[in-house]
Amino acid sequence: MRGLLGLGVQQPTVFYNWNAMIASVGDMMFRYWNPHIERMPLTDLQKLQENRLRSVVRFVSAHSAFYRQRFAEAGVAPEDITKLSDVAKLPFTTKLDLRNTYPTGMFCLPGDWIVRYHVSSGTTGKPTVVGYTQGDIDMWTDSLARALTSIGLGRGDVIQVGYGYGLFTGGLGLHYGAEKIGATVLPMGTGNTERQIELMQDLGSTAIACTPSYFLYINEVAQQMGISIRDDTKLKVGVFGAEPWSEETRKRIEEATGIKAYDIFGTSEMSGPLFTECHLQNGIHVWADYFLIEVLDPKTGEQVGEGERGELVVTTLDKWAFPLIRYRIGDLTILNTEVCECGRTHPRIMRILGRTDDMLIIRGINVFPSQVESVLLRMPEIGEQYQIIVDRKGPLDVMTVKVEVTEKAFSDKISDLMSLSKRVAKELQKVLNVSAEVELVEQGTIPRSMGKAQRVIDKRKV
Ligand SMILES: [Zn+2]
Repeated sequence: MRGLLGLGVQQPTVFYNWNAMIASVGDMMFRYWNPHIERMPLTDLQKLQENRLRSVVRFVSAHSAFYRQRFAEAGVAPEDITKLSDVAKLPFTTKLDLRNTYPTGMFCLPGDWIVRYHVSSGTTGKPTVVGYTQGDIDMWTDSLARALTSIGLGRGDVIQVGYGYGLFTGGLGLHYGAEKIGATVLPMGTGNTERQIELMQDLGSTAIACTPSYFLYINEVAQQMGISIRDDTKLKVGVFGAEPWSEETRKRIEEATGIKAYDIFGTSEMSGPLFTECHLQNGIHVWADYFLIEVLDPKTGEQVGEGERGELVVTTLDKWAFPLIRYRIGDLTILNTEVCECGRTHPRIMRILGRTDDMLIIRGINVFPSQVESVLLRMPEIGEQYQIIVDRKGPLDVMTVKVEVTEKAFSDKISDLMSLSKRVAKELQKVLNVSAEVELVEQGTIPRSMGKAQRVIDKRKV
């Protein structure tokens, strides 16, 4: 593409965002897709949110019997919402509401406005359906265009999309966002791992978007093929999400492959993947002109203090086929409202610990799989693949952590392995406050996943 310039051929301007170009002069990492919005002074941003909140509340009240009823039950009318803090007067919505109104009972526009559906897999219950107007798709795409720009991607990049295409939002979401910023998309989808690696080399992928566990697997297969991601490919960026992952996994990925690993967040109910960290890797910027977020105590529903952990609750501010009012996502996070060093004023959510749904209760103690991951990956002898198996022996919950050991550490000396397993158990006990049996296994034992990894097998539910 760049060679065309030399021939005097005009670059197509259709992909180009002039604002992004102006702001990109100077330090290339400080690029913005829409600097006016991304760096908007906080007071202006809040004013914008306030206006949009009023509009969306009036809109759902006028267009949805579901919300009219909910508002009536809560004794709140659209006129009661004048300032931003009035959001607390509005009732919550949950996944159960989506299921109970399946398929389209919470939509606010008739079918001829809808240009696309996405549907959740329904593995844990009835599936949920999300519908989009063209404007909703544009908002989603714009969110990702800002996010991908904030991690330094743009024209000239080849973005390999290794999320599933289809009813799942990951593939198409990334695809549209990447095209919007003028990058080249390699729409791989999941699976076909050897071909992923071949095309990564042949077409010069500079970025990949997939689950972190799948990327670890891609790296494993590459090594078996005699290919080093660091030396034999152009890959420099990974956009990882769709499953919780830890800071330790980030370190492992970056050290093993030389790429920068970024966290991406979004859920199908909100649109799909929407937000990433900026290049500073210190929290995920949530676009406040599009989404109003609250972090609340899951038990009381009250706002938690600054820097405290709580449940993420979202109100959409510019999404019309399927707006959401105070939707309880179920993810636990910490809100950071300080202006980021990158210049963006939009709030950040710190690394997602997991969903309240993912939380295991073992002998009365809350355990998140991501906590187990953090403990394991701090030890250099431990590989990246693990599984948590929970069972019940008599009245007692028993947690077994099955984990792969690196080839180097998998020595024949039984005593070494025994002392390692004791050490792992001790660390787990220290952090989780609950004891676990540790089973060390050889590399390649735990099944690999092309999408979301199955980290937990809870036999108590069977
Ligand atoms: Zn930032």
